[in-house]
Amino acid sequence: MDKQINRILIKDAAYVITMDEKRRIIRDGSILIENDLISAVGKAIDVTQSDVDTVIEAKDTVITPGFINGHCHISYAHATRGIFPDDLGDDYLVNVFRLQDSMTAEEELWTSLLAITELLSYGTTTIMDPGSTKNVDVCLDAYESSGIRMITGVQLADAENPYRMKVYSHEQALRVTESFLSQYNGSLEGRLYAWVMPFSPEYVSGELLRELKVLSDQFNVGCTLHINKAGRLASDDINESPVIALERFGFVGSNVTLAHCLGLSDEEIDILASTNTAVITCPTNVVKNGGGYGQNFPLAELIESKVRVGIGTDAGNNSNLLETNRAMYLAAVLTKDATGDPAQIPAEKALELATIDGAKALGLESHIGSLEVGKKADIVMYDTLRPEWQTLFNPVNTLVYNADGRSVKTVLVDGRVLIEDYIPKFVDTERLIRKVQGIGSTMMKRNNVSFPSKWPFV
Ligand SMILES: [Zn+2]
Repeated sequence: MDKQINRILIKDAAYVITMDEKRRIIRDGSILIENDLISAVGKAIDVTQSDVDTVIEAKDTVITPGFINGHCHISYAHATRGIFPDDLGDDYLVNVFRLQDSMTAEEELWTSLLAITELLSYGTTTIMDPGSTKNVDVCLDAYESSGIRMITGVQLADAENPYRMKVYSHEQALRVTESFLSQYNGSLEGRLYAWVMPFSPEYVSGELLRELKVLSDQFNVGCTLHINKAGRLASDDINESPVIALERFGFVGSNVTLAHCLGLSDEEIDILASTNTAVITCPTNVVKNGGGYGQNFPLAELIESKVRVGIGTDAGNNSNLLETNRAMYLAAVLTKDATGDPAQIPAEKALELATIDGAKALGLESHIGSLEVGKKADIVMYDTLRPEWQTLFNPVNTLVYNADGRSVKTVLVDGRVLIEDYIPKFVDTERLIRKVQGIGSTMMKRNNVSFPSKWPFV
């Protein structure tokens, strides 16, 4: 036996939901991992290996691929989470960028680590942070020590904006992105993916979007962009729908992933389908902001049109909850609610959105999103000896409609155990929490930002 190989056997799971091509659910299943990859998955009786370094008992667990969160700002929000009142309106983003702008690199490291700890603890193993982290060079430490798989980049704008986003010349935007891609893409043993990240067509001109898409093609990386229905375009006076404009700018294609996309017209859905452009939907953000998710996000139509769709949660201070599992639930039930049809987005489709479909939306389906031989060992084990998991006959229905991240017991990424028996192995969680609470207080004082409680603290 080659002793260079580290082997982990996860054995005797109640169910392994593979999300493979046939969508097999293996009863009494086991998984063998060799280093970062899955080398066998099947019936426990068939998956045996004498020379294993670690055995993880999986009795009474349901195993799924790690969940994929395709839009999730993890930078500043955890320091001041929950401070904004419900009636803040348009001042919300202005305050967000003001607070974020004032963060030190070290503060951003700690808040990022807390966000990652939350995400991993509740079963999310891959995230896309859409360019809002300012000090990736420092935050790299959190990505490395936690072991999460992530996509990040530099947030770009070339138009004046109310959000304190740096206004780049085209040459600067291209140069800074190029150097970021060269430095980070494929680092952390391949767990860090660097992408091209213009903010939105409201603050990025069509010309720059065109140039950035060419750059992403040259580097063979993805690009992402926020799309809002009401957005005015940076460089155009004409009132054109965003996706129609993006097609004109050439900012569509198999390496483009658009976030939000509320209010898409049939014509826009056709463009997304014909150009193979992906969409990430963030229901938790929409519902908290009164956006009419089921009415305004055409999830069923996108799926019907074969558009690649994944799930995100947006930021910890606008949707507030970062749990991909709960976002998956909302995408399903809000679509049923709005259409009056409970058959819309069945549990099986909901789970696909959070796993294999999410991987496809990020172009990562050959590595993650299902439990198959040769794929990365990004694995979540749910503890079913809990009230919300009982009674257990259909693990997919139970996971989507009853359970959530509370039952996540053990999490692996790249074959490394990051959460073990509910405990993150990479951080002293209590110390981290106290640290970030202190950072939040300091940040608010420094910026003279406070939103008093509507009820008296006594
Ligand atoms: Zn966002």
